[in-house]
Amino acid sequence: MTLFGVDEVLLADREELTAPALRMRVSEAVDSVSAIVGEDRDALLKRILKFTNLPRLADADDHDLHELMWELQACEREGRRGYRARLRRITSVPRPGDIGRLPRPRWAKAATAAGLCQLCGDAYARNAMIGRAKWGSELASLYVPMGWLCWHCTVNRRDRPRRRDVLLRLFHGLFAGDGIGINGHESRVLLEWLTEKPALATSKPWTSDPLDETLARLRTGASERKPIVWLAETTARTIVSVLQEPASRGTLSAPDDELLSSVVQHLAEWATNPAGVPHSRYGTGHRFRQRVLAVTENPTLLSRSGGPYFLFQCQVTRTGNLVDPDKES
Ligand SMILES: [Zn+2]
Repeated sequence: MTLFGVDEVLLADREELTAPALRMRVSEAVDSVSAIVGEDRDALLKRILKFTNLPRLADADDHDLHELMWELQACEREGRRGYRARLRRITSVPRPGDIGRLPRPRWAKAATAAGLCQLCGDAYARNAMIGRAKWGSELASLYVPMGWLCWHCTVNRRDRPRRRDVLLRLFHGLFAGDGIGINGHESRVLLEWLTEKPALATSKPWTSDPLDETLARLRTGASERKPIVWLAETTARTIVSVLQEPASRGTLSAPDDELLSSVVQHLAEWATNPAGVPHSRYGTGHRFRQRVLAVTENPTLLSRSGGPYFLFQCQVTRTGNLVDPDKES
């Protein structure tokens, strides 16, 4: 018997319970574990919250609350010794430097249960390292917080980008309407993708909106390891249209191809509004796109995880020096 019943119930909870109900469940579980490990309830709650690096339970969102429930269940199963072992914190997270560096995550930990990365959709196993990105209130008017991310998305996605990572950057940039900036590593990945098949340069979307100037900028971005290369929205759309040409798709891995299909689908839905989302209520910006995504008839990884997500862009000083992401205001 576990605190929350059988695993199937836990899986159902993960999908269905939302913050108020989850918070109550966590609070009840803290009472139970407090009795099991023989520690004062308030002290235990404080320690448990360190699993998510939050000061108060009220600050925990659905993603954190699910992880806390899993932790409490494990504490109950493993008893006092397991609880003590779980409290050991990970105090340092090695990250790449230079233009590939992401801000220090808000929290990094071993996953208490297998799950899916909320950004790229890759599965992670129990005990694999996962992380949550820092979230500033200045982001809240446009972006939504990302849930738990796989280790690649937590620390490596800008240093060793996959094609999927570049696609996600194009998608969330177009979703937010806040500009699409890629670094030199991402420029290299996109450049190689756009140039590996000569047929792409004679495709209809390319000849309608030539990408030669963009290629030159990507080439410079890659060779000079530029912190940021900006892409115009129309250019980003053209790039997606070119990448969905058969010559490009033939070379893709299954996850890259699936994500590309989803991006193409949602860009089309934003343009055609098949569900008739009223502009009078949702405007024409990111709230409209959010709603169109939420009511899509063909849900995808992207519609299930929502957004838009702030994927971080390098900041540079006036003199062109890279700003340490942990020292930004
Ligand atoms: Zn990921």
